[in-house]
Amino acid sequence: MKSLAKPTEVPADVFETCISRIKKIRLQNKLRACKPLITSASLEFENKVSALQLHTINREIIVNGNVKAKELEKVYKSRMAKKGSPGRSLYDKLLAAPAHGICPLCSQRIATTLDHHLPKALYPRLAIVPINLVPSCTDCNKLKRAKYPLNSAQETLHPYFDNIEKDLWLDANLIRTSPIVVNYFINPPAEWNAILIDRVKYHFDSLSLNKLYSSNAGSEIVQIKDQLDRIYARSGKEGVRLHLLESAESRAKVNSNSWKAVMYKMLGNDIWFCDKGWT
Ligand SMILES: [Zn+2]
Repeated sequence: MKSLAKPTEVPADVFETCISRIKKIRLQNKLRACKPLITSASLEFENKVSALQLHTINREIIVNGNVKAKELEKVYKSRMAKKGSPGRSLYDKLLAAPAHGICPLCSQRIATTLDHHLPKALYPRLAIVPINLVPSCTDCNKLKRAKYPLNSAQETLHPYFDNIEKDLWLDANLIRTSPIVVNYFINPPAEWNAILIDRVKYHFDSLSLNKLYSSNAGSEIVQIKDQLDRIYARSGKEGVRLHLLESAESRAKVNSNSWKAVMYKMLGNDIWFCDKGWT
């Protein structure tokens, strides 16, 4: 999971921009009356996300007594996410935040959409609130879609508020089948508390990251087989070991928890693999 700078857009201003072109004055006024609730919902989200209390935010289907959740969802869909809509430039700005366009939730696929950290169908006041909108790939977005936290342990990592990049927490082992399988899992540092461990595990499992990383690792091993054969022919298992560990180090400098950094390190430290285990 990669952290991102927290957006600074003011929720009430974003909402006003989104509803600015509504032609039906009654509808526009009814929605505009929700503006203070959207501001307070954003403040509540900000206070509770760091305190791991997002699960205590009320879910609702009617806002301000007369606005249906679906109406606020529609403000997001038709007036912020839709191309050419008044809020689309804000949508594009949020989507452009990750380096190289990579999804911060899986650190692998391309971010093509915004994910509602708390789903808009259940938390309509947060439908257009910038700190609830996280760049995401479509797969992570789909896997998260209907989920909402019932307790602190189920509060998935939030790129604007959580940063676990300084710690090494991803690990892998080798399953000596044919073809070889790399199995990924969470190996938390000793200083992490139990809730953080549970949250990272929940994030990892609910986004099926072992499946994603394992599949990529299997494909990578097939692609480097010929190169490893050549290195082995030149300098034996020690040459292979040094090559793999050097490959790991280079990747870990960018992201020590990337599946590639973890895979190369694990393979480099595996005596069986370095002695032609890939053949
Ligand atoms: Zn993703």
